[in-house]
Amino acid sequence: MSELELLAAEIAKCTRCLLHRGRTNTVPGDGPENADIMLIGEAPGFHEDQQGRPFVGAAGKFLDELLESIGLTRKDVFIANVIKCRPPGNRDPLPEEIETCKPFLDRQIELIQPKLVVTLGRFSMARAFPKARISRIHGQPRKIDGVLYYPMYHPAAALHQPSLRSVIKEDMLRIPDLIEQAAQIAESQIPTDVEQLKLF
Ligand code: URA
Repeated sequence: MSELELLAAEIAKCTRCLLHRGRTNTVPGDGPENADIMLIGEAPGFHEDQQGRPFVGAAGKFLDELLESIGLTRKDVFIANVIKCRPPGNRDPLPEEIETCKPFLDRQIELIQPKLVVTLGRFSMARAFPKARISRIHGQPRKIDGVLYYPMYHPAAALHQPSLRSVIKEDMLRIPDLIEQAAQIAESQIPTDVEQLKLF
């Protein structure tokens, strides 16, 4: 078993927070251990909980389309979530649930060592950009502790607000260039101007 598989097995047995009581399956994440791109969503929903796999519902369909637009499939990326169990009724994850689950996500990033971590939605964004507003910083990469983060809207946002669809698509199209340049991007290089710095 690989380290990631061992971690998934540990997650499957987790009882660190109350969410374990209502789950059908944990959703540790899916994808190759050596993925260049890691996408981090929010939390499993109904279908994810049923299947134990991330983004298998409507938002996942749009995510597949987005990946296809840059010539990728799920086999090329690792997809995880901030928390690994479904919150009741798909409510927002609680701060303590995010904190309790954080070591699992930290370890996944450590093991995968992706060139780019794409955060999908505000809960995922908050990991790297705690005080930022997604409407202000989406599409602006920043390297923190050697990890290049790229905040994007959650694909489900486009399902509720169709005008965001083109914004999300445009942000996605920048990813191939970012991967290309990832190694050259210095911690101090981004954000580049004072206006952006104020956001963090
Ligand atoms: N939304 C998420 O954030 N994650 C999933 O796995 C599915 C929907």
